Amino acid sequence: MTHSRKAQVFLEAMGASGINEIYLSRTQVRGTRPPSDRKGPFSKLREQVLRCTKCHELAATRHTVVFGSGNPEARLMLVGEAPGAEEDRQGLPFVGPAGQLLTKMLAAIGLSRDEVFIANVLKCRPPGNRPPQPQEIENCEPYLALQIELIHPKLICALGTFAAQTLLKTTAPISSLRNRIHDYRGIAVICTFHPSYLLRNPAEKRRSWEDLKKVRELLEKAR
Ligand code: URA
Repeated sequence: MTHSRKAQVFLEAMGASGINEIYLSRTQVRGTRPPSDRKGPFSKLREQVLRCTKCHELAATRHTVVFGSGNPEARLMLVGEAPGAEEDRQGLPFVGPAGQLLTKMLAAIGLSRDEVFIANVLKCRPPGNRPPQPQEIENCEPYLALQIELIHPKLICALGTFAAQTLLKTTAPISSLRNRIHDYRGIAVICTFHPSYLLRNPAEKRRSWEDLKKVRELLEKAR
């Protein structure tokens, strides 16, 4: 009997005894999908996202789709807003000036870009860097949710208001979302300023360092 058939028989037997819900610890849930099994679904998702034309305007104006980059088995995932001009040109997230600052921020807590996974809420550049529209978020968010589900990081760091509000389904400003550990489907979330905001407001780098130290502390605790 295959494992899935055995699981089905087990669940049917539980159901017949009146037990309709079972609880698995996070390690058990993760244990059902060995890391090597994540690569196939992850590259399938990537192919699907690269072909996406759900947002007609974005599909017509983009040069590339920016799926995300880094380690698909990362313990830390960073989520930004949407690709800018340089990201759209290269097909990679955070490769412009904000990306250079993000690389330095990661290095400050001992992490390289290869160790983490970096993605955006929107995978295509809004023309002229205009704010993402609600329908675009609705179209693209399921891709982010699947990336998070497949990577299953220990921690998500939301970069800026837009990522934080999208992940946490809130309209609260980033200032009130910092300094707290939030939850996204059982995964801890830390919110911090977007690197572009830090480039415009360098005085806020001091507060962003506090957030980064929290990220490092939570990752160490989750070992
Ligand atoms: N800003 C973002 O939010 N994402 C990028 O990839 C680049 C800039």
